[in-house]
Order: sequence, then structure tokens, then C-alpha cells
Amino acid sequence: MKNTKYNPTIKIHILTLLPEAFPGYLGISNAGKALSSGIWDLNVINIRDFATDKYKTVDDTPYSGGAGMILKCDIVGNAIESIKNWDNIPIIYMSPRGSVLNQQIAKEFSTIKEIIILCGHFEGIDQRLIDYYNIKEISIGDYVLSGGEPAAIVFIDAILRHIPGVLGKIESVKEESFEDSLNGMLEYPHYTRPAEWKGLTVPEVLKNGNHKEISLWRKAESLKITQKNRPDLLKDSK
Ligand code: SAH
Repeated sequence: MKNTKYNPTIKIHILTLLPEAFPGYLGISNAGKALSSGIWDLNVINIRDFATDKYKTVDDTPYSGGAGMILKCDIVGNAIESIKNWDNIPIIYMSPRGSVLNQQIAKEFSTIKEIIILCGHFEGIDQRLIDYYNIKEISIGDYVLSGGEPAAIVFIDAILRHIPGVLGKIESVKEESFEDSLNGMLEYPHYTRPAEWKGLTVPEVLKNGNHKEISLWRKAESLKITQKNRPDLLKDSK
């Protein structure tokens, strides 16, 4: 079935100092199958290939001192500009300073045909890269990683789930945590066989086949878990 809301394909360029980190998880999961069948495309660029001295230097010490090294704007800039048509492609820098990734952001990116994702290292990148290329920063949460690669994998996986053909059935993303179908709340609990395990049983309502009752039970459970774990997601609290 054709879904006109989303583009069928997306090309993702990754700029990294650790090209071996890709495709990684994205090569062995549902995303990996979709990659082999051409639903999306991955182009991994090693930033170090654009170093200009014999030591292949990509970083330097910060002006004004301080700890850590900074990825150089001239080298990263050349890596960006090696991508065909780079000036028409949105560039994302995985960064703890960015807007925090959520389902809405992932869905928006799934409609874009091509993106460039820059993975930082050390203390980060020269600010002029962000200013000159109008780079958008995206964070995967309020903690600091040692490199942008795991963040890029999380970001890409979250995007790809919204592209038809990546998951078995597109329906599988509809009724999930954060989606409109659950009013933006967390998902209700799931159970499968056996009916009894270590003395624990399955709620009767799920076994009686009454869809109306099941739906009411799910809504109530969804509300309960959201109140407990993420009260910030409740519409009233906004
Ligand atoms: N000095 C920076 C942290 C650098 S961590 C600061 O304090 O903001 C090194 C790299 O890891 C960053 O350049 C970034 O690409 C990546 N990174 C770290 N935490 C991240 C997060 N929460 N989300 C996305 N990328 C992150």
C-alpha cells in the first residue's frame, strides 16, 4: 500500500571519525533489511580522509585554553562539501545542546529525502560550522556521550520506523507510546502465553475478546503508567 504522507526513500550521509561504527545496529535489524532492499541509503564519510597534513590531523586545542580538543572547521567543512548538492540538504549535528529528540521530530525527519548527520568527538566542533552551514543540533537526552555515533544510530532508527517497508506493517508504529492514538501517553502493558507464569496471571479482560472492554482497559492502563512514569506527558499538565 502506498502511503503518500511519507517519502518512500531517504538517503543519509554520516560524517564521523569512526566509520566502523556504521551501519552497526542499523545493518542487522529491520533497518538492515530495509537497507539491503534499498528502502533507504547510507553513505558513511570518514572526516579524517579530509585532513590535509601528514599526521591526518582533524582537531586542535580551543582558543582561550581549556580542556579537550575541537574538530576543525576547515576539515569538517571540506567533508561536508564533498557531498553532492550539500547546500540543499539539511545538516544535523548530534549534540547534547540540541533540541531533545522525540517521536514528533523523528516523524518530521522521515519525510525528508536526504540528510547529513555530523557526529562530534572530543569537546565538540568549531562553532563556525554550525553558523556557516546553518546546522541544527539534536540531542538524544540530557547526558553526555563520548561521541555522536551512538546518538546518530538512535536518531536514524527512530526516523526509519516511520518509513513504509522498514517495519513489517506500518500499523505497528500507529498504536505506540507518544502517538496520537494513545493521546501522546505511554503504551499499556502487553501479555503473551503462557497464561500463568510464576503464579502471575493475565488480566481476564484481555482473554474475553470484548473489544470495547479491552480498549477501555488499555486506555486506563495507559493513563496509569503515564501518571506514574511521565506525568509531564499528560495533556492537562501542559
Ligand atoms: N563539550 C560538549 C560535549 C561533547 S561530547 C558539551 O558539553 O556540550 C562529544 C560528542 O558526543 C559531541 O560532539 C556530540 O556529537 C556527542 N554527544 C554527546 N552527548 C550527546 C547527546 N546527549 N546527544 C547527541 N550527541 C551527543
